[in-house]
Amino acid sequence: MYLDRLTCPNCEAELAYHILSRQFVGIRNGQAVVDGQTWYACSNREWECNWLVWEGAPAGRCFSCRLTRTRPDGDDTVALEKLAKVEEGKRRLLLQLGELGLPIVPWDVAPGGLGFDLISSLSLGRPVIIGHANGIITIDLAESLDDRREALRVRLGEPYRTILGHLRHEVGHYFQNVLLTDDALWARCRDLFGDERTSYQDAIKRHYAMGAPDGWQQGFISEYATMHPWEDFAETFAHYLHITGTLQTAAAIGIHLDAAVTNLRDTDVVPRESYRDEQVQQLLTDWEWMSQAFNRINRSMGFGDLYPFDLTPAVKRKLGFIHDIVTRAPLTTDEQRALALPAEAESA
Ligand SMILES: [Zn+2]
Ligand SMILES: [Zn+2]
Repeated sequence: MYLDRLTCPNCEAELAYHILSRQFVGIRNGQAVVDGQTWYACSNREWECNWLVWEGAPAGRCFSCRLTRTRPDGDDTVALEKLAKVEEGKRRLLLQLGELGLPIVPWDVAPGGLGFDLISSLSLGRPVIIGHANGIITIDLAESLDDRREALRVRLGEPYRTILGHLRHEVGHYFQNVLLTDDALWARCRDLFGDERTSYQDAIKRHYAMGAPDGWQQGFISEYATMHPWEDFAETFAHYLHITGTLQTAAAIGIHLDAAVTNLRDTDVVPRESYRDEQVQQLLTDWEWMSQAFNRINRSMGFGDLYPFDLTPAVKRKLGFIHDIVTRAPLTTDEQRALALPAEAESA
């Protein structure tokens, strides 16, 4: 799927994404008819949003754009250009969450629902702290500037830093509260990630004064994950999305490893579009082989590894827990998804 395109790369036809049927459709004069219903190009299409909206959606905004609670002023075109980049990452995130069947309740439907404040520290002239609070994810649009993000990545000693990575991490905070629905699940979570009730303020101070403890690599996916159990969960959740999202793209393209050529093992490695009905071991084994292959491809272009991380047994157990709670979440049905959309339709 060409998630970030407005036109078909082959025939130049105008394309837009229809969320209920999860497909790209051709549009003419800003309209498409799907299942007998007319849909319209999102009013942010000039800012490269390629989703469709119901007739009468407030401000003509699609489901993704509607989740953006705060955005730069209409005359701040510099920030709006950065917004377009971040929105692209956000649409990719939302598509993946939908395909995993994870429920999304918008911020304007229920308190604590998912929303995004996408604002720029450059426009505001003050720092913007990337984070999550009560369903609202805040992203600093200035981080879409490559040199700025890269400087931060180096200063913080991170092997990987992207806007999509930020979005996947922050949405992990959101889903921890959504998916851990009873005491038994919280107990399992605390066993693996630690007790999230310990002081967060103390954890921040300790982390920035002393850094990650020696030997952290055995138990954690990143240094940042060592700071506090909330961050460990969000970091691990983000990796679950990195892994399933990349395997899904590989599956959609038809990439697989041919055992006869690679000589590394005696069966092919064939990524799947969904691992919902699989044990986590299948997911992790496929990823182990595919990530090595992707790393080699990156190196052959002189880049660093595509996936510069090691999955130790402890980290795999944490990923197993995430797989468990994601796949046991009730699969979002068309009706449920329609529920989320149609506050748009109802207000028509
Ligand atoms: Zn939109
Ligand atoms: Zn966090």
